[in-house]
Amino acid sequence: MTEKTPEEEMLNWAREYAKKRGWVLNTDEKQLGTVIRGLVRNKTKFGHQYCPCRLRRGDPEKDKSIECPCIYHEDEIAQDGSCHCNLYFKA
Ligand code: SF4
Repeated sequence: MTEKTPEEEMLNWAREYAKKRGWVLNTDEKQLGTVIRGLVRNKTKFGHQYCPCRLRRGDPEKDKSIECPCIYHEDEIAQDGSCHCNLYFKA
């Protein structure tokens, strides 16, 4: 069995999370790939999968709020139909 790339693992994680919540992932493969790669990059670089679409403050305590899934995503999905990064969408 071939090992999964970090991007494939992140995508699987996001897909599972979306499924659990009754949402779907962005159907635009290009946008989806960009967000997934951003999450992987932040995880590799900073040790946490910080939102690629938000500014880190550089304070791990404060930045907990923007670890994906961030504290804002539920409200954003409810109000706008998707999270700020357009990763998760209402089904
Ligand atoms: S905006 Fe979306 S992708 Fe970014 S951290 Fe929140 S849930 Fe994750």
